[in-house]
Amino acid sequence: MELFDLITVQSIPQAIKAHARAATAQQGANIRFIAGGTNLADYMKLNVERPAQLIDISRLPLDQIEETGDGGKKLGALARNADVATHAAVQAKYPVLSQALLAGASPQIRNMATVGGNLLQKTRCMYYRDTAADCNKRNPGSGCSAIAGHNRMLAVLGTSEHCIATNPSDQNVALMALEARVHIEGVKGGRDVPIGEFYLVPGSTPQRETVLEPGDLITYVSLPAPSAGARATYLKLRDRASYEFALASAAVLLKQGASGSIEFVRVALGGVGTKPWRSTEAERALLGKAPSQANLQAAAEAALEQAKPQSENAFKVELAKRCLVHALHQVSLAA
Ligand code: SF4
Repeated sequence: MELFDLITVQSIPQAIKAHARAATAQQGANIRFIAGGTNLADYMKLNVERPAQLIDISRLPLDQIEETGDGGKKLGALARNADVATHAAVQAKYPVLSQALLAGASPQIRNMATVGGNLLQKTRCMYYRDTAADCNKRNPGSGCSAIAGHNRMLAVLGTSEHCIATNPSDQNVALMALEARVHIEGVKGGRDVPIGEFYLVPGSTPQRETVLEPGDLITYVSLPAPSAGARATYLKLRDRASYEFALASAAVLLKQGASGSIEFVRVALGGVGTKPWRSTEAERALLGKAPSQANLQAAAEAALEQAKPQSENAFKVELAKRCLVHALHQVSLAA
């Protein structure tokens, strides 16, 4: 690990100013906010992340989980994953989020990891973690070792010839299905971004993973009021039962009308995309239909239609389809 400077800030404006000041003083330097540190510190130990300046934001008043006036929820960026997962109102109104969080990492990590940090969780691609390997995401222009190398865990949706890394988060798959919004403060003021627009596919610039600009600080995530009567679940398939990343996962919300036909549905997939993957194709295939095996299977086929498997991960296409069909069965009522 390389030497770095560390300062602690007490307010959001102080954090934004500290970043701007450091960026002016150290042109081109890597300046990072740090809170739980479960991801950033991990990569600093591997020398993948080498910030010159860390700004400790863990004392900012952003750890609350609050009601919004419109029946939704506001999750502070510093709310711990464990606290969100076990919050009574989150479990009651957004069970898919609670389930996704509890399916991720370990209790110890969930006690430290935050909502905002989880949004920015880095890929587990083995070449990204190995500073001796060529990796366009870590070192733009150097090449992608995974495409001709080991790629069993990597993505089949949203890939490019420059990067096929999987977004590893469970939380973010649930947030995608819930149509969360990400609230950001920066030097130009505040803004909020639908989570569907927050992540970027790698294209030719895999080092850019989100729409965040230098100095932007995620302050909270908002969830809309839940759709009344919708059932939800998060299903995660992995190599071992705990402390493991998804090979494929599905977050689904579904509501049927009096006739049994599907009148509301949201589908997001994890473990298979270069970003948390909302499947509007699957949603379109399901809307207005009965949740029959044939219709659920057709939705899964639509969700994976654009999949581009690599040498070692073709199995993920079938696995993701089965994961989605199974999750949809779990939330469907027989007509
Ligand atoms: Fe790097 Fe992406 Fe290729 Fe992995 S898949 S080696 S992260 S460029």
